[in-house]
Amino acid sequence: MPEQEVEIVEVGARDGLQNEPEVVPTATKIALIERLVAAGARRIEVASFVHPKRVPQMADAEAVVAGLPVRPDVTYIGLVLNERGLERALATRDAAGHGIDEIGLVAVAADGFGRANQGMDWQTSVESACRIARRAAADGMRTQATVSVCWGDPFEGEVPLARVIEIVTRLAEAGLAEIALADTIGVAVPVRVTALFERAREAVPNVRLRAHFHNTRNMAIANCWAAHETGVRVFDASLGGLGGCPFAPKATGNVATEDVVYLFERSGIATGLDLEALIATNHWLTEKLGRPLPSMVGRAGGFPQARGDGSSQARGCARS
Ligand code: ZN
Repeated sequence: MPEQEVEIVEVGARDGLQNEPEVVPTATKIALIERLVAAGARRIEVASFVHPKRVPQMADAEAVVAGLPVRPDVTYIGLVLNERGLERALATRDAAGHGIDEIGLVAVAADGFGRANQGMDWQTSVESACRIARRAAADGMRTQATVSVCWGDPFEGEVPLARVIEIVTRLAEAGLAEIALADTIGVAVPVRVTALFERAREAVPNVRLRAHFHNTRNMAIANCWAAHETGVRVFDASLGGLGGCPFAPKATGNVATEDVVYLFERSGIATGLDLEALIATNHWLTEKLGRPLPSMVGRAGGFPQARGDGSSQARGCARS
């Protein structure tokens, strides 16, 4: 089996933890990222360089990055919403090239969420993302962007498909080689996922499209499959299904990494991730946060192993 047929970008340490009511200690964030790397994660969102007053949970971004395992084979992503954020992310790079490896930018597809999340309308957010993308490229930084609320806005409802396509086209013109379509509030259903990704692929055939789903209405895993059927091969997911968004009322977690890995691996599609190690990390984090995490596979465990085979049984025990 090839090492990796789909790529999972682990966003639990950022999109996941940023919505936790209690501030998670820096050491716990670093330990989580170490465990994710050990489980096979090779692209990980580790921090958000936003103003600490807006997202207090991310105030230790620099400290988290300074404590990351030095792994040239792992790409560490920092989320950046403005020029100041870009400067902070770039400043984490040391002479040896350690620090943030990739910038994640955000554009919004609707004014409602845009004003709440970034204090700007969708047009301004797209212009800002394009401007920062050009600056990051000039600084030799690998950069990608996520378009928020592509399938619906928490304040305005419907988001026109044509507008999302216009945004994706403009981001591609700014040089972004990878763009995620995000269902920030978990309202998408598979038919609409298919429609939007197919149109986006036609509009920007040379861009790598990534899917970012939240499981607010239990549709995320079905949406992942629909996106995969259209040719999407990069998926954001968060360990345990952690997450939410402080600026999107009632938004809940990202699709759970364990669930996505189970979906693909049982379908014969390699993810490069070790499900049992992820489930063990889920249990470890459950203890740290003091509450169960939403992931269904995290609770149920992976596919049952035949009894009588010592090695398989040992793996089955990882759920206890
Ligand atoms: Zn998200």
